[in-house]
Amino acid sequence: MVSDVPSSILIVEDERIVALDLQQTLGELGYDAFAIASSSEDAVSRAGERRPDLVLMDIRIRGSRDGIDTAEMLKAQFDVPIVYLTAHADDRTLDRAKHTEPHAYLIKPVKAAELRSALEVSLHKHRAEVQLRERERWFSTTLGSIADAVVAVDTSGRVAFMNAAAEALTGVPVAFATGAPVDQVLTLDLAPEGESAVLTALRLGQVVHLTEAVLRNQRSGAERVIADSAAPVVDPSTNRVLGAVMVFRDVTDELHLRRQLERADRLASLGTMAAGFAHEINNPLTVIMGNAEYVGEELTSLRFAASAADGADGADGADGAYDLLAHCDTISAALNDLTSAASRIQRIVSDVRTFARPVTQARERFDVVKCVEWAMRATAHEFRTRARLSKSLDPVPMVAGEEARLGQVVINLLINAAQAIRPGHSGEHQVAVATRLDADGQVVIEVRDTGAGFGGDALEHAFEPFFTTKPVGEGTGLGLSISHGIIESFGGTIAIQSAPGQGTVVTVRLPPAVEQQAEGAPVRERRPAPGRARVLVVDDESVLLGVLVRMLHPHEVTGVASAREALALVAAGHRFDVIFTDVMMPDIDGVELYSRLHLQHPDLAARMVFISGGTSNPATDGFLQTVPNLSLSKPIQSRRLHEVVRQVVWGDGTDQGRDA
Ligand code: ADP
Repeated sequence: MVSDVPSSILIVEDERIVALDLQQTLGELGYDAFAIASSSEDAVSRAGERRPDLVLMDIRIRGSRDGIDTAEMLKAQFDVPIVYLTAHADDRTLDRAKHTEPHAYLIKPVKAAELRSALEVSLHKHRAEVQLRERERWFSTTLGSIADAVVAVDTSGRVAFMNAAAEALTGVPVAFATGAPVDQVLTLDLAPEGESAVLTALRLGQVVHLTEAVLRNQRSGAERVIADSAAPVVDPSTNRVLGAVMVFRDVTDELHLRRQLERADRLASLGTMAAGFAHEINNPLTVIMGNAEYVGEELTSLRFAASAADGADGADGADGAYDLLAHCDTISAALNDLTSAASRIQRIVSDVRTFARPVTQARERFDVVKCVEWAMRATAHEFRTRARLSKSLDPVPMVAGEEARLGQVVINLLINAAQAIRPGHSGEHQVAVATRLDADGQVVIEVRDTGAGFGGDALEHAFEPFFTTKPVGEGTGLGLSISHGIIESFGGTIAIQSAPGQGTVVTVRLPPAVEQQAEGAPVRERRPAPGRARVLVVDDESVLLGVLVRMLHPHEVTGVASAREALALVAAGHRFDVIFTDVMMPDIDGVELYSRLHLQHPDLAARMVFISGGTSNPATDGFLQTVPNLSLSKPIQSRRLHEVVRQVVWGDGTDQGRDA
C-alpha cells in the first residue's frame, strides 16, 4: 500500500458467510474493509456515508439491481474503482460488466495473494487516472485562459483542442470544431496550394516560425490579419509525432499602426528632402528671375532706342531699325515664356516649402465660417464655367491655429473640386460647402462636389506628396498632403469619400478651441447686475422667437433657431444667466439640449427653463417632471417671463412651481 492509512474497501456481497470471510482476509492483508452491504440500496447508502477507496462487488446480489447496475451507480456518484468478484463468468455477464470499466474481475474462490495484487493494481490505476484527469483539466483551463488563440490537431489534421480565444477569432464554436479538419475551422486566405502553419508543422515535424495570414471569421465574415507559429507535438519518450499545435493572435490593429508609422516616417524624410530641394532651387531661381527682369528692362531700353532711331533716320535707315525692333519682339516673347516658366517653378517651390515647413506654433482663435467664406470668395472664379457653388454654413465654435493655413486647405479642396469638373456644364454640377458641429462636438468643414470622383490606387495615395493624376502644369500632387499636415497641426482629421463617377466629399474635422480665460480674470460667474441678465432663447418658430426676444427686453437677449446653434454659442465661450428653450424642436430637441449641456456645462443646464406647447408626450412629460428646472406652457405672459428670469438669476420671485 502506498500510504500508511489503510485503503478503505466496501464489500458488496449478499452471502453473509462469504462476506465475513472476505472481510477477515482483507483485514489480514492490511485493508480497512469497513462495511458489508448486501443489496444495491445498502451499497449506495454505505458509500454515501463513507466514500470507499474501492468497492469489491459481487455480481449476483439480492434486490432489483444486480452488482453491475450497482457498480455503474457507484462509479457515477462517487467515482470509485470497482473490482468484481463472482462465481459467474458467462460471456453475457462479462460483456455487461466490461461496459462499467471495472479495474479487475475475479472468480470465486479467490486466493489472498491474487486478491491483494488485483486490489493494489486497481487502487494504483485509479489514483493515476484521477491525477491524469486533474492535469488534463489544469492544462485545458490554462490554455483556455491565455489570450492567444491555440488550436491543436491530431495526426490526421483534425482539431483535437481549441481555446476560447481561437473560438472568438475563427467564429467556430469549440463543439463544432473538435474533430473537424483544421482547414474547415481556420479559413485562411492562402495561395492555391498553400496550407496552414499547423499542417506544415505536422507534415514536416518541425517548428514553423511566425507567418502572417488573413483569417476570415466564419460567424461575422470579418477578415483579420493573424500572426501564427506552429509546432509538432512530439511524445518525448517515443519521439512519435502526436499532432501539432498552432498559436496565433490578431495583429490587424498592430499592422495598421505600423503602416501609419512607416508612412509618417516616409513623409518626414520626404519633408526633409523637399526642404533641401526647395532651398537649392530657390537660389538659382532667384538668379534666373533677377536676370530675366534685367534683360527685360534692357530690352525695353533697346526697343525705345530702336524706335527713336527709326523715327530719326527716316525712310533710309528704316530697314536696319525695323529689323532690330522685330528682333526685340522675338526676344521679348522668349523672355515672357522664360519668366512664366520661372514663376511656375517658384510656385512649385513655394508649395514644396509649405509641405516641408514644420508646423507653426501660432495658435490664434478664429472663426471657421469667416475663413471658409474667404476661401470661397478667393476661388469663386474657378467655378464660373464648371459648377454652381453653394454653401450651408452653421455657426460653429472657434478653433485654434493659423487662420491663413486653414484658408489654404479650403482653397486646395475647392480647387480640387473645380478641377474634377469639366468646364462647360455648370448647370449640371454643384460644389457644396458646409460647416457644422458634429455629435462629438467637433467642428466639421465639408466640401462636396459632383465631379469625376476617384477610387482605387488614386484614393489610397491621394495624401501622399507628389501624387497627382492631373496633367503636367495642372497639379503638383502637393495639395492634399499639405492640407493633411495642416489639419494635423490643428489636432484634426481629414477624410475623403469618393468613387469614380460618383463625386467626392472631403470632410475636415477640427477640435473646438479650448476656452481661454484672461489671466487673473476668470471668465465669469459674475452675478449679473440686477435688472439685466444675459438670456438665450432657443425656438425653431421664428415668429415666436422674435416675440420672446422682444418680451425679454431690457435683458441682454440672444435668440437662436436651433439647439445646435445654442450649443455652438456655448462651445464658442458664450455664457448665459438663463436659457429658455422650446421642448419640441426638429434635429436636437430641448431634452437633448439639456442632456448635452448637462454633460459639459452642468451650471448652464441648471439655468435652463423649458417652454412646452402643451403637447402630451409621455417621455417628455416624464422628463419635465424629473428635472428640477422650471417649465412654462405657451402662451406665456411677459410678466411671468420676467418673474422666471428673476427667480433663476437672482433667486427671487415668488413662484417656485411650474406651469401645468
Ligand atoms: P493635385 O491637385 O496637385 O493633383 P492633390 O494632392 O491636391 O494634388 O490631389 C491628389 C490627387 O487626388 C489629384 O491628382 C486627384 O487625382 C485626386 N483628387 C483630389 N481631390 C479630388 C476631387 N475632389 N475629385 C477627384 N479627384 C480628386
